[in-house]
Amino acid sequence: TLVVDVMTLNAATVTEDSSIEEAAELMLDEKVTHLPVVSEEGKMLGIVTAWDISKAVALKYDKLDEIMTRDVITALPQDPIESAAIKMRKHNISSLPVVNDQGRVLGLITTDHISTLIAGDK
Ligand code: SAM
Repeated sequence: TLVVDVMTLNAATVTEDSSIEEAAELMLDEKVTHLPVVSEEGKMLGIVTAWDISKAVALKYDKLDEIMTRDVITALPQDPIESAAIKMRKHNISSLPVVNDQGRVLGLITTDHISTLIAGDK
């Protein structure tokens, strides 16, 4: 199984000038916990997660810029799912933006996709 077979296409994203509140609202509306931060052209600049929103609340940050992670671990669509799982385990993260070779965000793969795959229809 490859990343492309199980990933979410057209994942919700935010732009860098969004507020923390806008990112939090989008997570609630889309029922997701991870949002890639992209430029106007769709290039990946970072990632913001529910964990980062907690950090903003606890430490009173107010700009997305201050809480997003810029050094993003990514996957390619043709990567085997096992290599995505190993990357997530190794870095203690639960999602990887899936990018093409120009760095454009295609979607997202999460630990949910992997548990769904393992659980099958059980
Ligand atoms: N284990 C939890 C999880 O999986 O979300 C929380 C720990 S994890 C170290 C939290 C941090 O990882 C957040 O600051 C978030 O921005 C960052 N993060 C999440 N996904 C990432 C990714 N694909 N690449 C780099 N950092 C990522």
